[in-house]
Amino acid sequence: VTFEELGVHPQIAEACYKLGYKAPKEIQRESIPWALKGRDIIGLAQTGSGKTAAFAIPVLEKLLEQPQALFALVMAPTRELAFQIAEQFEALGAIIGVKCCVLVGGIDTMQQSLALAKKPHIVVGTPGKVHYHLENTKGFSLRSIKFLVMDEADRLFSNDFEEEINAILKVIPKERQTFLFSATMTSKVAKLQRASLSNPVRVQV
Ligand code: AMP
Repeated sequence: VTFEELGVHPQIAEACYKLGYKAPKEIQRESIPWALKGRDIIGLAQTGSGKTAAFAIPVLEKLLEQPQALFALVMAPTRELAFQIAEQFEALGAIIGVKCCVLVGGIDTMQQSLALAKKPHIVVGTPGKVHYHLENTKGFSLRSIKFLVMDEADRLFSNDFEEEINAILKVIPKERQTFLFSATMTSKVAKLQRASLSNPVRVQV
């Protein structure tokens, strides 16, 4: 199948081809059609499976239909992963001029607050830093978020982000679409799934 046959917008499919993605990978074939129908997704997939594009493409697709600031929040366990995710969003969303803000440790906090003030479409960060900015950056709120992604959920817990995740879940609108990706299904991931996903489609590759 092609990206277009999965329901992907021609402009985003074109961005995929430009990045050298000739055809959708299995995780993308399994999840993109459900995601475009508005379903929550739990994806069991390893790094390297193409999981980032599996969640980035549907988010960008909906952003294209309904452009707005602070459209999606992506939580990732490490700064490296957060940067990689933002890079893929920006590459796949270049045609629509998507703006990302990365909230991670090791970057000047003031600079990150300024980046948030520029109203990015997508915020990608570690739960610790996202929570820090919710508490400390005036005017930053997640009230308009339409998509929540939790990537490498098992590692989010091994990095001890449970408290911050729960605090963030409390201030995100209930009316949203949620994707949870994890390499393994642990009891903590199952608990997070029950707390944050609604009637999810389970995809495993
Ligand atoms: P990920 O599992 O998201 O870390 O992706 C692993 C790598 O696969 C990344 O470098 C992506 O750019 C690449 N990739 C994602 N989707 C495709 C695709 N459909 N075809 C070829 N490469 C892809």
